[in-house]
Amino acid sequence: MSNTIENLARANVRALTPYQSARRLGGNGDVWLNANEYPLAVPFDLSQLTLNRYPECQPALVISRYAAYAGLQPEQVLVSRGADEGIELLMRAFCEPGKDAVLFCPPTYGMYSVSAETIGIEYRTVQALDGWQLNLPAISEQLDGVKLVYVCSPNNPTGNPINPADLRQLLEMTRGKALVIADEAYIEFCPDATLAGWLQDYPHLVVLRTLSKAFALAGLRCGFTLANKPVIDLLMKVIAPYPLSTPVADIAAQALSDQGITLMREHVAQLIATREWLIDALKTCDCVEQVFASETNYVLARFTASSQVFKTLWDQGIILRDQNKQPGLAGCLRISIGTREECERTIAALKSLPGSASREQA
Ligand code: PMP
Repeated sequence: MSNTIENLARANVRALTPYQSARRLGGNGDVWLNANEYPLAVPFDLSQLTLNRYPECQPALVISRYAAYAGLQPEQVLVSRGADEGIELLMRAFCEPGKDAVLFCPPTYGMYSVSAETIGIEYRTVQALDGWQLNLPAISEQLDGVKLVYVCSPNNPTGNPINPADLRQLLEMTRGKALVIADEAYIEFCPDATLAGWLQDYPHLVVLRTLSKAFALAGLRCGFTLANKPVIDLLMKVIAPYPLSTPVADIAAQALSDQGITLMREHVAQLIATREWLIDALKTCDCVEQVFASETNYVLARFTASSQVFKTLWDQGIILRDQNKQPGLAGCLRISIGTREECERTIAALKSLPGSASREQA
């Protein structure tokens, strides 16, 4: 019976390994440092109680506030169920399954491949260079048939922004052929690196944003696609009729008020201070081989025995994200910036580990 059902499924879905989200991976922790969430809940009150009515498809207040926040026009903003939905909408609007391809540069965020596989679109990868920057000559060789190039900046899980000069070159080489999608999920931690201001120069640029990280609203599921009107109009053709529920739009509008944005900026400043403390402290741990610079709310580090470190901390309720399987990241764990206390507990746990264990094979 279950075999019959399985056989009815699309071949690419049968073959698919779903995205291993932090929540799916489970764990019994009390220090959650594996999903790049803000560590504390920000309180909100619901003001829209008209749940008998369908919500607006693109709630006007959310759109106008986000446009003002991003320095754009409302017609350049689309709101969706997280940035993840934006990643997928672009593929659904621009890629013909079985014909077109998307491209991205590992190590990077896992949903580009999962969305492509789900829809049945080929994906090509061009490994990032040392320092996790773009390998532009290799990208240029792979562009035939590519409709979308996803660039995560700052990159998850490595924490670095992509060089602006390289992004300009990428935009030049793709002009008229493909869209470049700058995934700026973590941009509030390095706001000067945003490409939002470049939309006026590049009709094929798209920027993805979210309220899940700096805005402390991962549970809300609200993200934004920023692009010029012709791109937004196409995405509006394929988006669900009611992508955001009324409570989501209500809370998103509050988060994007002047007061909400000020609060977000305070949180960012405090997370950055904690991050710098954590980076310095990690460098003093014997089990840590290398700590990568970060302009985000997480830090990537290479450990002498990462599986053992991961498991020992997991057993103590400190849940990190294992990046060991990503290309180029053997021995690496990603640590989200929690509260100062959570980071101190993590360092104390790392310091009590033996540091001399030899490096494991990936
Ligand atoms: N892009 C990147 C780089 C991310 O890390 C994430 C969150 N894990 C997303 C997009 C998706 O964000 P959202 O919660 O808005 O779907």
